[in-house]
Amino acid sequence: MMSAASGCPSRILYAGVCRFDGSAHLRYSARSLSALVDLRRAKVPYIRFQSRTNSMSKSPYLAGRHFLQIPGPTPVPDRIQQAMARPIMDHRSQEFAHFSAKVLHSLKDIFKTKNPVIMFPASGTGAWEAALANTLSPGDKIVMFETGQFSMLWQVMAEKLGLRVDYIQSDWRIGVDAASIAERLNADKAQEIKAVAIVHNETATGCSSPVEEVRNALDAAGHPALLMVDTISSLGCVDYQHDAWRVDVTVCGSQKGLMLPPGLSFTAVSEKALQASKSSRLPTAFFSWEDMLGPNEKGLYPYTPAITLMYGLQEALNMLNEEGLDNVFARHAKLASGVRAAVAAWGLENQCRDGKYYSNAVTSIRMPEGHSADQFRKLVLENFNMSLGAGLTKVADKVFRIGHLGDTNELTIIGALGGVEMGLEMAGVPHSQGGVDAAMAEFRRWGRVQQAAAA
Ligand SMILES: *Cc1c(COP(=O)(O)O)cnc(C)c1O
Repeated sequence: MMSAASGCPSRILYAGVCRFDGSAHLRYSARSLSALVDLRRAKVPYIRFQSRTNSMSKSPYLAGRHFLQIPGPTPVPDRIQQAMARPIMDHRSQEFAHFSAKVLHSLKDIFKTKNPVIMFPASGTGAWEAALANTLSPGDKIVMFETGQFSMLWQVMAEKLGLRVDYIQSDWRIGVDAASIAERLNADKAQEIKAVAIVHNETATGCSSPVEEVRNALDAAGHPALLMVDTISSLGCVDYQHDAWRVDVTVCGSQKGLMLPPGLSFTAVSEKALQASKSSRLPTAFFSWEDMLGPNEKGLYPYTPAITLMYGLQEALNMLNEEGLDNVFARHAKLASGVRAAVAAWGLENQCRDGKYYSNAVTSIRMPEGHSADQFRKLVLENFNMSLGAGLTKVADKVFRIGHLGDTNELTIIGALGGVEMGLEMAGVPHSQGGVDAAMAEFRRWGRVQQAAAA
């Protein structure tokens, strides 16, 4: 087989045809199609080629690693991929029970709890349902706070389950305001409120919520409502203390800070939540805690567990423990501050409007008026093979998100920021250059502080 002569473009920039002698390379157009016909007629050997910039779907292979910079699912590290390649075990065997009991045990450390963590084969949404359905009864009143898309979806679910939700409105630009929750609790003399359910890290907006302040609000009001916290995009990224903060139900999923594929959901429980589950009247079947807890004591399950994901989970827990949770949190803090430094250098606006609530897992960036965040993301994907997070519902097309959680480091983030900066230019979005430099300066600053602390 002949190879293309040197006159052919080696980096293909557009669709067209190229003679093997390199004498013609033309865009697909009426002209190039007729050129193609001419080449065929003259029996000249030719190759077709395609653009990398025109459309992803035309390109059979994109070199280099795909940059999955969405705030979950996050890239799965090789160690975890390999752990999951092990053969499936008999889930009723002693060997499995032994393995599973160990995993369930070490899972507690990540939630910082001594109580059971109940695991279901489901996405995080399943854990939302488990939290509500196991503890509450039809018509119960609960308080939620509008941080963004995920608080909204949890609220919609609560209403579907027959709960009455007092949903405190906000503008999707801050985390939970504990004072407004305190107000509701103090006004509730009849103690009708059965639970306060909040999102620790609002993945849609890059705003995190002060869980301890909400705990303190409950204590100050002397209110017995259960405290439920969604940590789906914060666990394994920022500090979280289920027991010390006396959270009653902590909800989590596998595919964000825990670095696993989607498919596992978790509820960590308190003694009080388990008590509540004894008198709760919402129906539970698949998500029943009771059905799970008995068999779990021996490392077993009432139905087939997600064995492969559990292999991965064991490895993820090993990795988090090897790095040390405090180091994991410091790494996320550093990477997040680099991303925020880049956003500031570009002169763009963070969706999170109050530094108190900045998220160390994801940054949501507002597009200047008149510019489409989705067009920009499409351009970045097609040109640099990087997926950025989309704006959801209320902020659709208005923001794009950079995930900086899970198995990631400075160089990955510098690469991601480089792609964003080049994309901003290509998309004609008004901005200043120097975002990548600002991030590197921030990483160096953190490096010096960490060195000084170690000395
Ligand atoms: C991703 C996410 C969810 C939804 O989890 P699924 O696994 O998609 O069901 C809920 N809450 C938060 C905060 C999330 O980030």
